[in-house]
Amino acid sequence: MSIRFLTKPEYSNEKHKFFTIIENLFDFFQSFFYMDTIFPVRMIYDTVIVGAGPAGLTAGIYARSKLMNTLIIDSGRVGGQLVGLYPEKGVQNFPGFELVQARKLSDRFYAQAENLGCEIREFEKVLEIKDGNEEIIIVTDKGEYKTLTVIIAIGMGEFNPRKLDIPGEEEFAGKGVEYLLPVKEKLVEQKVTMFGGGNSAIEMALIADSVTDTTIVHRRPEFRADEMNVTSLEESNILKVMDATPISFNGNSVLKSVTVEQNGRRFDIPTDLAVINIGITADLGILTKWGLDLTPDGLVKVNMDMSTNRKGIFACGDVVDYPGKYKQIITACGEAANAVQMAYKFSKKPYWA
Ligand SMILES: Cc1cc2nc3c(=O)[nH]c(=O)nc-3n(C[C@H](O)[C@H](O)[C@H](O)COP(=O)(O)OP(=O)(O)OC[C@H]3O[C@@H](n4cnc5c(N)ncnc54)[C@H](O)[C@@H]3O)c2cc1C
Repeated sequence: MSIRFLTKPEYSNEKHKFFTIIENLFDFFQSFFYMDTIFPVRMIYDTVIVGAGPAGLTAGIYARSKLMNTLIIDSGRVGGQLVGLYPEKGVQNFPGFELVQARKLSDRFYAQAENLGCEIREFEKVLEIKDGNEEIIIVTDKGEYKTLTVIIAIGMGEFNPRKLDIPGEEEFAGKGVEYLLPVKEKLVEQKVTMFGGGNSAIEMALIADSVTDTTIVHRRPEFRADEMNVTSLEESNILKVMDATPISFNGNSVLKSVTVEQNGRRFDIPTDLAVINIGITADLGILTKWGLDLTPDGLVKVNMDMSTNRKGIFACGDVVDYPGKYKQIITACGEAANAVQMAYKFSKKPYWA
């Protein structure tokens, strides 16, 4: 016999949490008293979604609209790249919003997933995805979960901003040296120096320039960014220091200046806030431990229905690759909807049934 406590979408979040507590208590007593043999009750999710970026949160929204008992796990904070890499940027291409700050768009996804009754666990890293007898077992750094299906939505994996690795960078980290642009209010009357020459660096510099004096330092003679961004930069008041190498961050208890070298000449740029935006290091190595077919670039191979080579395991978002793949928020969301549709069908008739 198999019993599951399924929460219903019309229940409030509080009621959903109540049911989750009951389920966990039941699980505890079941394992404690070896009740599995006498009374084989199983606590099991319909789907566990790994990753809470746009793909994972959309998968959660769709799963709950199908009344699936849904758990979303993220190794960091909810929001994925929108919150971790470009919270202040304005997203101009998500339908329904002419312009929306990435952080606010992510908040909307989060609220919708939570209000529909997704159970969401932050700062919990998924380590293994094992086949159980009649279910899949998710192993994290905090525990184990049983589920009928899994949706992998880990984007670019765990990511960290790339560092300049120059003197003073560590010393002034958080005291003037940042890797994300702080909220606009914190920029007022601060002299900002941005490092980088890609779209992200230019977009952040333009945001900073709308409230304060801003300089952009780039190691090449030309920017490698979309024409629209470069044109906006050219038309702005941002001071451009091109073909320049950062040498050191200087100050006492807080950052005061940045030394750069240009054409063999060293000089200081007075700076209260240095923002380093020269890319990220991402690690998807964990995928090799999950028994999935991967592309030569280490991304998950999926079929058109977002299924992977492993039964009951689907994937969506930046972590998947196929001909014509376009890494965008909207594509991540679209793939998530498909993945849930297939996971739902699978959960109704798993391969062992
Ligand atoms: C600077 C920049 C600007 C961009 N601007 C735009 C834009 O304007 N418009 C647009 O459409 N797209 C934009 N994108 C692309 C867009 O952000 C991505 O396509 C989108 O975030 C992909 O969503 P995702 O959910 O697949 O992955 P992610 O957003 O990367 O989320 C994946 C989540 O999985 C978590 N995770 C990783 N490993 C584990 C693990 N082992 N266990 C549990 N959780 C894990 C991560 O912590 C993360 O929260 C931009 C990207 C960048 C870098």
